Amino acid sequence: MDISSIRDTEGAGFQTVVSANFPPFHSAGEEIRYHQPVTAELEFTNTGKLILAQGLINTVLTVACSRCLEPFNLELTMPFRLGYCENREQDFDPLDQDLEIRTFDGNFIDIGPDVEETVILSLPMKFMCSPDCRGLCAQCGQNLNIQPCDCKHEQIDPRLAILREFLDQQQ
Ligand SMILES: [Zn+2]
Ligand SMILES: [Zn+2]
Repeated sequence: MDISSIRDTEGAGFQTVVSANFPPFHSAGEEIRYHQPVTAELEFTNTGKLILAQGLINTVLTVACSRCLEPFNLELTMPFRLGYCENREQDFDPLDQDLEIRTFDGNFIDIGPDVEETVILSLPMKFMCSPDCRGLCAQCGQNLNIQPCDCKHEQIDPRLAILREFLDQQQ
């Protein structure tokens, strides 16, 4: 990102939309691919102390459902907010303790690695193809979203188990 237009002017800023492709990556042993390039709608502002980059990142990933293991496309939108300090000001102590600081040199800020990191850190713990995915039968492996299997399921519905526990506590 060319920030030469705001680099020397406190208060100056601009808005931009950038799009980038990133290679697949691994998370919890699963390969995750980008179904769509990552789009970042960002505002760059020279605060006088640093260049603040903030906005929203959006992308679509192809992931495997944690329950039924079927691949599906997961749309993710997440906030992006980072401060960029010139290398020579590396010992700068930000007032805003929550703001993560990166460094840059010259007229360009390479936000690519930070955008990629933000996507990876924003991944949910579990991927669900739908909120009511039935998953796989633990005994025969049938995908229960497609059709039920003939196994006898004697486990108690977890929601009923919670209710039972709750009722026990009331006595
Ligand atoms: Zn599923
Ligand atoms: Zn089964």
